[in-house]
Amino acid sequence: AMAAAVPLSTAAAPWLSNGPASSPPRVRLLIGGEFVESRADEHVDVTNPATQEVVSRIPLTTADEFRAAVDAARTAFPGWRGTPVTMRQRVMFKFQELIRANMDKLAENITTEQGKTLKDAWGDVFRGLEVVEHACGMGTLQMGEYVSNVSNGIDTFSIREPLGVCAGICPFNFPAMIPLWMFPIAVTCGNTFVLKPSEKDPGAAMMLAELAMEAGLPKGVLNIVHGTHDVVNNICDDEDIKAVSFVGSNTAGMHIYSRASATGKRVQCNMGAKNHAIILPDADRDATLNALIAAGFGAAGQRCMALSTAVFVGGSESWEDELVKLASGLVVNSGMVNDADLGPVISRQAKDRICKLVQNGVDSGARLLLDGRDIMFEDGNFVGPTLLADVKSDMECYKEEIFGPVLLLMKAESLDDAIQIVNRNKYGNGASIFTRSGISARKFQTDIEAGQVGINVPIPVPLPFFSFTGSKASFAGDLNFYGKAGVQFFTQIKTITQQWKESPAQRVSLSMPTSQ
Ligand code: NAD
Repeated sequence: AMAAAVPLSTAAAPWLSNGPASSPPRVRLLIGGEFVESRADEHVDVTNPATQEVVSRIPLTTADEFRAAVDAARTAFPGWRGTPVTMRQRVMFKFQELIRANMDKLAENITTEQGKTLKDAWGDVFRGLEVVEHACGMGTLQMGEYVSNVSNGIDTFSIREPLGVCAGICPFNFPAMIPLWMFPIAVTCGNTFVLKPSEKDPGAAMMLAELAMEAGLPKGVLNIVHGTHDVVNNICDDEDIKAVSFVGSNTAGMHIYSRASATGKRVQCNMGAKNHAIILPDADRDATLNALIAAGFGAAGQRCMALSTAVFVGGSESWEDELVKLASGLVVNSGMVNDADLGPVISRQAKDRICKLVQNGVDSGARLLLDGRDIMFEDGNFVGPTLLADVKSDMECYKEEIFGPVLLLMKAESLDDAIQIVNRNKYGNGASIFTRSGISARKFQTDIEAGQVGINVPIPVPLPFFSFTGSKASFAGDLNFYGKAGVQFFTQIKTITQQWKESPAQRVSLSMPTSQ
């Protein structure tokens, strides 16, 4: 089979430069409100993972260009910080309207550059849109606290002030949602921002920046640089950047966490995962099967909250036939094709890594119930749904994050045993239980060591009034993304104590003031 041809959008976008004939368009930088072409000599191709066509290329931003982006953000800060929160909110109101009007265009770009199905790409935009909606209430979210008359004639209040220039470094798997986890909250708090999209799929971030400016975001409030390690290291080292938001792998995340915090920055890093589902024998069969298939294979397993491991209390044997039947019925094709359930994985290297981990599982004794490695496509990096049973905790395929359409099946003797398996895993992004027993669910909720817990819910990612609360090795930092914690991350608290009273002249006292 061959993946259906994908129409490449040739419509002129202000964030693209047409290269010389027959070379791909070049993605521009956004500096001080202008989309400018980089003078870099080095580029990275953005490839359509379904076809291997080069969609565009990003520049490895030069040191001077990076400096100019940070300077633009620094220069824009005083004016933006002084802009009333109501006016900053109003930009977000308009921004959410423009995102809604451009959902299809954004989704099409995501499918072209990232590979996920159009419907799933639409969800990628929508989950980010919800963060923009949330930022529209910043006046309330950023509200301070006040205690009157803490001592005679003295009041104390605290306010949350923006930090200054903040930066965000994004992964490839949610090209719209993750940039939208970052800059809408940051800028509505009054910060200015330098965003580095994933070098693999920068298009959605560029379109969102275009819309944000159309919504009225002043020049320099949001800037975009492209590149890989070097520009990331520049962000970590820069003296003007006060906070760094990162989402991606543990290798990059822990490097960024230590390098950026070494210069006194705040850092929040959302990282890798191995999310487990525990299935009790009393679980609703059909609902659980559907949940496992959807959360295991949706987005080709490339979600940080994908369910990659199913632990069956009592063993998986009685579930296997139906899992194989449902998984083999899924349609693997270009995300542009209407009935596709899952598209390709992001790159050739990703496919190779996934296949190697599956083989490693087989070599170390796992039973291969369904093998998606040999799915025949001429070009794209396709991997079909794959099921491995009898997986043990010491296998490489269990210890590593696979990040592909591979569901591992494990066996536990009891709920306690299953909880222990999950808790021994180093990651703590999410975990779910499927059961009809409230008592078991409550025990799970109490004893499980994961930051986001699902009870008969396969992908328990909280909406933006809560925060994304991965834990253990899935997160570094202390203030999570979006929700209350997100606002705290992007603001510095200032506490003011004021005295206004008519006081008769008093003898000076050098003792520690106490309330009276
Ligand atoms: P990645 O770590 O390879 O890349 C993320 C970003 O870091 C990119 O912008 C990249 O340019 C940069 N980068 C990569 N390696 C670097 C290095 N050594 N030094 C400096 N910068 C570097 O991640 P990815 O492959 O794009 O994304 C997949 C990973 O992201 C998975 O591990 C997934 O679990 C994780 N993820 C986590 C969450 C979450 O919320 N916990 C959400 C989405 C993705």
